Amino acid sequence: MPEPAGREQCWRTDSAEETRRLGRALGAHLEGRDVVCLRGPLGAGKTTLIQGLAEGLGVAERVTSPSFTLIHEHEGRLPLYHLDLYRLAAGDLPGIGVEEVLAADAVVAIEWAERLPAGLCADGLEVEMEFGSGKDERRIVIRARGARGRQILEALEEEADACTRD
Ligand code: ADP
Ligand code: MG
Repeated sequence: MPEPAGREQCWRTDSAEETRRLGRALGAHLEGRDVVCLRGPLGAGKTTLIQGLAEGLGVAERVTSPSFTLIHEHEGRLPLYHLDLYRLAAGDLPGIGVEEVLAADAVVAIEWAERLPAGLCADGLEVEMEFGSGKDERRIVIRARGARGRQILEALEEEADACTRD
């Protein structure tokens, strides 16, 4: 039997708070070794979504972008590793231990995941964020990768209203 095609769903948000709310719903479903890979231009809301995700994981401290350090670790009901690879130069990858982080019993959320070698986000979710037409409007496409990705996406669809595709 062929692998079922990767599923995807889209959401539209009209404020940072709505994006955080979607992140919270997502964070509540995540388990150890789940990976969320985010793409999208600067200001699209990747960090904002991860702030909600962290709340959904029970992280109490403030989540800010690790753009200079590349990685932040937070304690929630599981550890959260938040990576931001914006400043990563080609060839720097082994230095930050991405493989170790992905193997830990933790949730991993990665901004600028397109700078990683293909395949590192093979089982989990890919989140693509885009600017919409209004200043605060964003379109968020969440794509399931692998069986675990589909499971998370289905759980999320049940509680967070997805947008209709246009
Ligand atoms: P990125 O990490 O993708 O560079 P940030 O999350 O740091 O983006 O910044 C997004 C900015 O856009 C924040 O200032 C946030 O308040 C603002 N914003 C406005 N509307 C939205 C929205 N619908 N979703 C997310 N952020 C929004
Ligand atoms: Mg960011």
